[in-house]
Amino acid sequence: MNASYDILIIGGGIQGAGCAQAAAAEGYSVVVLDKFERPGLGTSCKSSKLIHGGLRYLETAQIKLVYECLRERKLLLKNAPHLVKLKPFHIPVYKNSIRKPWLIWLGLAIYFLLSGKGFKIIPKGQWGALDGLNTEGLLAVFQYFDGQTDDQRLTESVMQSAQQLGARFISNAELISAECRPGLCDAVYQQGDEQKSLAAKVIINAAGPWVNLVLQKITPKPPLADMDLVLGTHIIIPGSLQQGMYYMEAPQDQRAVFVLSWHEGIMIGTTETAFNASPDQVAPPESDIEYLIDVYNRYFQHSISRSDVKRAFAGLRVLPTGGDAFSRSRDIVIHNDAVNPQVFTVYGGKLTAYRATGEQVINRVKRQLPERQRQRQVDIKSLRLP
Ligand SMILES: Cc1cc2nc3c(=O)[nH]c(=O)nc-3n(C[C@H](O)[C@H](O)[C@H](O)COP(=O)(O)OP(=O)(O)OC[C@H]3O[C@@H](n4cnc5c(N)ncnc54)[C@H](O)[C@@H]3O)c2cc1C
Repeated sequence: MNASYDILIIGGGIQGAGCAQAAAAEGYSVVVLDKFERPGLGTSCKSSKLIHGGLRYLETAQIKLVYECLRERKLLLKNAPHLVKLKPFHIPVYKNSIRKPWLIWLGLAIYFLLSGKGFKIIPKGQWGALDGLNTEGLLAVFQYFDGQTDDQRLTESVMQSAQQLGARFISNAELISAECRPGLCDAVYQQGDEQKSLAAKVIINAAGPWVNLVLQKITPKPPLADMDLVLGTHIIIPGSLQQGMYYMEAPQDQRAVFVLSWHEGIMIGTTETAFNASPDQVAPPESDIEYLIDVYNRYFQHSISRSDVKRAFAGLRVLPTGGDAFSRSRDIVIHNDAVNPQVFTVYGGKLTAYRATGEQVINRVKRQLPERQRQRQVDIKSLRLP
């Protein structure tokens, strides 16, 4: 007989891991399938690795998202101090910057009100110490604090926490099909040469950029959501930053681009490029790499060229359809409808807010599960990550 669970989660990225942790903490039996060999090898190892409120989302008035992410940042600094560190970030403002010093000041003041962490203006006399930052035309440099993590390690840690609470993670396991009838879904997955099956009362589709492909494997077929895949590239160059991170305004299109310390060097990103192929084919386009090199060369005295790029990687954001990528909502969307009420699909979201997302999804999912005696209820807000 097939193993049977309350909840089957497709995808062991940060959102799948967060849902598994939240569900297991509530005492549900949970299984997670991922087609890769470890958690977090999809989008969740291709992010900018920031645990942040997202200062730039204030420009598009996504206050609720910023507030939620800053609250989650605070929890992660407490519950995962080995994985999330607060680092200084610098915002240089030049004569020709579109965002003027007063606007940056205002944004940081709001960020301060939402987070309780302050900011300061770096005195002119100290600009020379800022990692070779170009000072020609420089008007002001602001310093504030935000979080950095290793996104793949964080995802593994959240999945481990879910497993400690009783969830099961099955790697190298690709969902092939799922057939749902009232009260139960039968799923078939491929693991190596074998096709295996299991059953669950509810399916959570947390397959990141693959969400709509996963929906097509489920019967009755739930409608696909209108979404775009937007590619984000990062490059890594040799070197190190002594004073912290930098938050630049790209001269080409005024988007915000980060220059960050990363294990093997300096990481620069990201881009927002329309993507229309299969998520399995994601790769950093040459034009994105050149764009990031140009941003760095505009702001730092030491110029780099294509041969300095040691590594480049790209991930896919799932964004609601329409408008320019920079200003579209980064909020999570949970889809569930009458065609197949046992299937919940998670679109978009932030690495930073995975815990809140998991909680939100499980609160929706609960309504589809029969009343039960809870064996376990753990408060994941205060649960230390392994
Ligand atoms: C360029 C970029 C930068 C970002 N920077 C930040 C940042 O600095 N801070 C922040 O908070 N957020 C950031 N984000 C957002 C964040 O990284 C993503 O929202 C998050 O990683 C998405 O996680 P996920 O679990 O939804 O998707 P994924 O990590 O892609 O996980 C989906 C999983 O589903 C699995 N899967 C797919 N199909 C199947 C199948 N048929 N069977 C089994 N498994 C399957 C895949 O193997 C994959 O592991 C960034 C995003 C991008 C693209």
